[in-house]
Amino acid sequence: MKPRLTSLNVADVEREELPVDVLLVGAGPASLACAIHLQRLLEKKGLDDKTILVIDKAEEVGHHTLSGAVMDPKGIAELFPDWREKGFPVLSDVKEDWAEMLKASGGSIKLKGMLCPPQLRNHGNVIVSLNQVVRWMAEQAEAAGIELYAGFPAAETIHAEDSDRVLGIITRDSGIAKDGTPKSTFEPGMRITADVTVFAEGTRGNLAKNLDRRLGLSRGKNPQAYGTGIKEIWQVDPKIGKEWYGQVMHTGSYPLQRDAYGGSFVYGIAEDKLALGFVVGLDHKDAKLDPHGLFVQWKQHPRIRPLLEGGKILRYGAKTVPEGGYFSMPKLYGDGFCMVGDSAGFLNIATLKGIHLAIKSGMLAAEAIAEALEKGDTSEAGMARYGELFEQSWAKDELWKVRNYRQAFAKGMFRGMLDFGVAMVTGGRGLVAKRDMHADHETMQPVAQSSFTLPSFNDTDSLDKLTDVYHSGAVHEEDQPAHLLVNDPSICADKCTQEYGNPCQHFCPAAVYEWPEGSTEVTINASNCVHCKTCDIADPYENIEWVVPEGGGGPKYIDM
Ligand code: SF4
Repeated sequence: MKPRLTSLNVADVEREELPVDVLLVGAGPASLACAIHLQRLLEKKGLDDKTILVIDKAEEVGHHTLSGAVMDPKGIAELFPDWREKGFPVLSDVKEDWAEMLKASGGSIKLKGMLCPPQLRNHGNVIVSLNQVVRWMAEQAEAAGIELYAGFPAAETIHAEDSDRVLGIITRDSGIAKDGTPKSTFEPGMRITADVTVFAEGTRGNLAKNLDRRLGLSRGKNPQAYGTGIKEIWQVDPKIGKEWYGQVMHTGSYPLQRDAYGGSFVYGIAEDKLALGFVVGLDHKDAKLDPHGLFVQWKQHPRIRPLLEGGKILRYGAKTVPEGGYFSMPKLYGDGFCMVGDSAGFLNIATLKGIHLAIKSGMLAAEAIAEALEKGDTSEAGMARYGELFEQSWAKDELWKVRNYRQAFAKGMFRGMLDFGVAMVTGGRGLVAKRDMHADHETMQPVAQSSFTLPSFNDTDSLDKLTDVYHSGAVHEEDQPAHLLVNDPSICADKCTQEYGNPCQHFCPAAVYEWPEGSTEVTINASNCVHCKTCDIADPYENIEWVVPEGGGGPKYIDM
């Protein structure tokens, strides 16, 4: 089998070297919490000469960050006990919350108060824009003296010659033409070396995935399960906006097929704005599954559509979320490295919350790194402290209580509800001590069994994919090789067309993959890519590899 290409960097080129003590790859809540907490711990230990560097692939910190988001403030309150006084960006406290089951016939059943499933009760939580949160956290990090470079995508890990020890990363070369030849603007990526590298790339991190392949970090674990989330922000009629401001509604059922997992939300984020989103599990069996199409269908339900009347879309975005829970988390550390946040699966899918867990994971990693640096042992044995701290933490307790949640729902909605009921009185065990899970790419059925049909689109409330992508701000340098690598194009034309009908054209929420009628070759519109990673996860032959594009390329999420 031909070896997979996992980076677009050119080989054998002289590279500038930047040595630091701790390097954090990605500038999300986990990474920034880790950097801020580590800086404080190092100062206390008299190790304030250690250098901490955070790098991010987006042109500006926050541009690639998207979430719902209702946040449990537990994590941020631990990092900054005076978070509110310090000006942490809260859109609203949750004033009212409920769940609603949407019926295909048009009505809905409202579950409020004691009837609302406990995992969906949000009293005491706050509505935030994760994009604003990370910008605020980045300001706190910079004020504390931490170096932060945006527009620096990490393309490859560096390993010791005689072992798997992680020595740092190489950033992506820039100035490579579409045909792979260096342009006059060619600049080789930099070698950034560190005693400890923290992988905080978000869901399905490119480097984290390759590290897992190389070191078997998920050996003996369930495969990670993912969902694709679609989100829009709407400017709405002020009458609706005022009524909804601070309200949190989660909906279920419609328009999901019977054995599919997913859900949706409407959050009142300002007196004239709503955030709407839909998440669907990628173990969905239908080869024509189109998460964006499902989202549009949901918006057309009589419960949702009137909310958008007279309004206009402001933003669009998509991302995947790691849903597998405790049994799907990889080994969190190794020789010279650790993983935090979504990259390591820190998400409670039952409550749909991960920001507080991401922050906690970063803080736990910081404690382990500070101890390792003090002892001068950043080997696997030195970094093992992170695993111990996690096992003793409230983050573990929280994830342990829902350890079988997502797996049970993979067996169907009824089994999931039954199992969750039992789990509530058995400390999270449910009917079985440890439920297994299939990898998402293994669950697709042949296209002949598909029953999914796209809804009709319009230019008011049901925008098509391309119009939506425009509102994501996605842009990439056009003259560069596509960062979506198709490992074996013959599989697409010879096998996938027959068996699955080329599902990439459906599951991508940004219209990147096109199969014009009668074509035997895929057209890849890489410039549209919003970096959600759905293709890297859901392709039934694992034939697509998402790698980092040139620095700064991708969506430009504001307030998402
Ligand atoms: Fe997501 Fe892949 Fe489409 Fe990019 S190409 S938007 S990563 S599915």
